Amino acid sequence: ELPEPAIRIDIPERSKTTDNISVEIHANVNLVQDVKNAVDQKAEGIGLYRSEFPFLVRNDFPSEEEQTGIYRRVLEPMGKKPVLFRTLDVGGDKLIGYNPEHREANPFLGYRGIRFSLGNEDIFTEQIRAILRAGCGYNVGIMFPMISSVEEYLAARDLVYRSMEDLKKDKMDFCEDPSLGAMIELPAAAEIAGDLAEISDFLSIGTNDLIMYLLAVDRTNERVEQMYKPYHPAVLRVIQRISDSVGDKISSLSVCGEAGSDPALLPYFIGSGIRKFSVDPKRILKLKEGVAGLSAERCEGIAKSMREMKRLDEVHSYIREHIMPGQ
Ligand code: PEP
Ligand code: MG
Repeated sequence: ELPEPAIRIDIPERSKTTDNISVEIHANVNLVQDVKNAVDQKAEGIGLYRSEFPFLVRNDFPSEEEQTGIYRRVLEPMGKKPVLFRTLDVGGDKLIGYNPEHREANPFLGYRGIRFSLGNEDIFTEQIRAILRAGCGYNVGIMFPMISSVEEYLAARDLVYRSMEDLKKDKMDFCEDPSLGAMIELPAAAEIAGDLAEISDFLSIGTNDLIMYLLAVDRTNERVEQMYKPYHPAVLRVIQRISDSVGDKISSLSVCGEAGSDPALLPYFIGSGIRKFSVDPKRILKLKEGVAGLSAERCEGIAKSMREMKRLDEVHSYIREHIMPGQ
């Protein structure tokens, strides 16, 4: 147990810009233990629960019962607040040793995320049933990773619907109205974000993977990692295009990758219409302070200037001069 801090920092429940625009701040959670940090930091919900972690730390796939127990422990402390469960995102950098299918020449372009889940319906169904069962009485969302097409999203959604019918037949209690959505983390998904928005309840931009795939840079490869550039003009423009293409569903669009908690990019995101962020709980306070110090109107001007830049060094000098002076 940590001692009570001598000075209590008052963390506001809600965040608003100086011109009174609400910006929601949710938490990214990897382990059940981290939920406490989300609550302490007054997160408005969990915008990304990375469900693969219980799968990574063991020797076999956890059963439906085990998963139901884990997911309940994520939901209970959050009460009525929304919790987005991202379904299993194995493959790429998250390999499960006991899964023989993980050996591939290009794992980041291989059998990962929703591809693995749709190819292993039994494992996927168990997970969906566990989320739905744990979610009875809670505000639950189910988010699919690595979506690359409308068909893939519909196939995943269909499996959720079928699982709900089966749970009804099994006379089990479950969440009957989960919200369903997709991560936008592939350039293909960014291009069709408007189409995905029409058939989903929410979308979340996973900048970690989106930047990697857009720039074709493997961050885990030392030779090229310095080419991983969140401020690259292509990244800035794609964010704007996603935001524009979801139109009046903008309030259900969030950013859940690391870039969402970068103070240098915050005015750009707000100026591009983003009103929801999900970040590491450690970053919540700083992000809330950041939002409280900005006007959405000024952010629009900043975003307009940044979006027109052609070179990365222009973006860097603009950030140094106008967004983070003295840093
Ligand atoms: C992302 O890709 O931005 C993301 C949030 O997912 P992960 O970091 O778990 O791949
Ligand atoms: Mg990702």
